[in-house]
Amino acid sequence: MKALVMEDNPVNLSLTVELLSQLGLEALCASDAESGIRLARENKPELILMDIQLPGIDGLNAARLIKADPATRSAKIVAVTAFAMQGDKEKIMEAGCDAYLAKPIRYKEFFDTVRGVLGLDGTGDGAVGSVEKDGRS
Ligand code: MN
Repeated sequence: MKALVMEDNPVNLSLTVELLSQLGLEALCASDAESGIRLARENKPELILMDIQLPGIDGLNAARLIKADPATRSAKIVAVTAFAMQGDKEKIMEAGCDAYLAKPIRYKEFFDTVRGVLGLDGTGDGAVGSVEKDGRS
């Protein structure tokens, strides 16, 4: 299974790639939305970890573009954001993301959420549940 990480912070990028590899997922990387969307079209990843604060096109608009394109819309998108403001979760889900993670990334929440959106644990409820549980930090 293939993943794509769209993240402009190198530390967060390498952490995310490492966590994905622990789940057995090979990760492609992009540091901006334009190259990430191109990689998504070319490689058809099953999962996209999307930083919301990206230079140029932000993660919300990138998610909208990915979900509007028949070539890429089947990818599950997990938004990652440092913002913990009211309304963020709603904006993120309206943009077409499948789940949400708040920075700093916590390992258990990360694994639960990724397994949940990909249906790897058979319960399929990890995504939204983890928002309710751990959304404030
Ligand atoms: Mn960023």
